[in-house]
Parts: sequence; C-alpha cells; structure tokens
Amino acid sequence: MIKNSKIIDGKLHAQNLLKKLKPFGVKYFEKFGRKPSLAVILLGDNPASQIYVKNKIRISRDNNIKSTEILFPNDISENKLLDKIIELNKNNSIDGILVQLPLPKHISEKIIINTIDPEKDVDGFHPKNFGNLLMGNSNLVPCTPLGCIYMLKNELTNLNGKHAVIIGRSNIVGKPMASLLLSSNCTVTVTHSKTKNLDDICKRADILVAAIGRPAMINENYIKENAIVIDVGINRVENNNHKLSQKKYTLVGDVDYDRVIDKVSKITPVPGGVGPMTIACLMHNTLKAAFLRKKENFISIIEGV
Ligand code: NDP
Repeated sequence: MIKNSKIIDGKLHAQNLLKKLKPFGVKYFEKFGRKPSLAVILLGDNPASQIYVKNKIRISRDNNIKSTEILFPNDISENKLLDKIIELNKNNSIDGILVQLPLPKHISEKIIINTIDPEKDVDGFHPKNFGNLLMGNSNLVPCTPLGCIYMLKNELTNLNGKHAVIIGRSNIVGKPMASLLLSSNCTVTVTHSKTKNLDDICKRADILVAAIGRPAMINENYIKENAIVIDVGINRVENNNHKLSQKKYTLVGDVDYDRVIDKVSKITPVPGGVGPMTIACLMHNTLKAAFLRKKENFISIIEGV
C-alpha cells in the first residue's frame, strides 16, 4: 500500500460536506428572505484564535451564511460579555452564536456557555445540547467530534463492534466523541492523564482518537497493526528552520505521523485532517440551528446526528 492512500483527506471530506450543505443555504434564503447568520465573538489578540475566527468568517461567507465578527479587548468584563450574548440571544436575525475559546482567566467559560441560547449554540457546548447528545437525541453536536465521526463513517462501511480508544476527556472533544462512537455501536474506552498503561490500552484500538494537546506524543508503540488513527491535536511548535521557511511556528498533531504511518491503515494528517472538518461542521450546525429555529425540518446529512 502506498503511504498516500492511507491519508484521510480532511480537506476533501470538508469540501464534500460543504457541497451537500449548499442547497440548504439557498433554500433558507428563498423561503425566509435572508441568509442563515452566525455571530462569532473573539476576545483579545491570541494569534491562533484570530486565525480560527478569520477562517470561520471566510468559510461562512463562501457558503451563503452571513457572518458577523464581534471583537472585544482581552480585559472586557464578564458582565459586558454576558450583556452582548443576551442581546444576540434576543436578536431574531441571528441563528448561531459562537464564543471563541479559550477565554481570559477572569471570565468563566462555564457561565458564558450556559448563557448562550441552546437553540443558537452552534458549538454544541451548552449543557442542554450536551445532555441531549448523551441521551442519543443529538441536536447541536460539538463541531470537532462531529467532523471526526463524519470522516469515520465515510471511510469505513461499518463501525459496529470496533474498539475505539479516545485519549483525552475534555468537554470539547473527548467526551462528545465517546458519545458519538457509542451511538455508532463502537466499544469505547476513554483515557486521560491518570490512565495507567496507556500504550497497552491504545494498542487494543481499532480506532484511536488522540485529543491530548501534546505534540507527537503517540508513536508506533501505541498503535495496533492496521488501526485507524484520528489525530485531533493542533500544537504550535517552534520551527527550527524558520529562517529558511520564514515561518516561526509549525503545526503538528498529537501523533508522530512518521513513526506510525507504516503501521496504520488510515490516518488524518495535521494540518489538513480534523481542522477543515471542524469548520465545515460549524457551517452544518449554523444551518441546522437556522432551520430548527424556524421549526423547519433539517434533513441531516450526517447519519444519526
Ligand atoms: P484539553 O487540554 O481540554 O484536554 C486534553 C486531554 O488530554 C485531557 O483529558 C487530559 O487528561 C489528556 N491528557 C493530557 N496529557 C495526557 C497524557 N500524557 N496522557 C494521557 N492523556 C493526557 O484539550 P482539548 O480536548 O481542548 O484539545 C486537545 C487537542 O485537540 C489540542 O491539541 C487542541 O488544540 C486540539 N483541538 C483541535 C481542534 C480541531 O479543530 N482540530 C478543535 C479542538 C481542539 P486530564 O483530563 O486527566 O487532564
């Protein structure tokens, strides 16, 4: 098998998803006389967050979704941010609200997330949406795990009975990923920083999802022969050759791609794997929120969610 045939091309999957979503945006405009709309709130000048938000805004516009960027300084008070969210909740022409994380330490992520109207919670982090996901009545599902399950369902004919191991138990990735894999009939193991014998557990995985935030931590010693690996990690590491390439930082995943490639059957690269799918799923969720708010059916193009 040549190495390229092992790559799960997230950019291609994202393009395919966006192509399937396009008619929904058109249909919405024809029926309601306006585009579905997304408000993205960004605090401060974290360069990674700025890039994420810029990409979200650009891809929304390319896909007939009206997007509004709302910028605040890093030292905005929690109350002022809450006032803005309450205003957006009340604004009938806004369908989706996203607050770019992480937030500065003086602002409680929990309070902010809990204040977003669950019907507009396109990140799927509100406890109501989270609870629905756990109960198998998913509505708005966190974008990153949604993108991962979309790719897995498109790459594999059947997930039934596969042993999936997730490294990481965050609310953003690990926990919702576990729920989606369970609903897809996988046998799921969730691991974290206190897990003992992590390599042995990972070696039993047919599907390994790494969402750790530790550059290239997962090597061939964690991989079962022919496993499918989803590398969620996005880590900015210093580029030693930056004088040559002009780039001071480079992006790497949680998986050491070069050391695992001969062993895996498929793997998502970083960049170009989970990242593009996360943004495509944000478009999916914005359209879904827009349709559901109008009590219109949204025929989900992602099976089961
Ligand atoms: P968090 O920091 O919230 O969670 C990391 C998880 O990894 C925790 O559960 C932690 O365990 C676990 N962990 C840390 N070190 C180890 C270790 N040595 N062994 C086993 N488990 C460990 O991160 P996120 O879930 O938010 O993000 C994870 C990665 O995914 C990051 O690189 C992030 O940038 C990336 N990401 C990428 C996205 C994309 O669009 N592609 C979107 C979101 C995130 P414990 O709970 O015990 O602390």
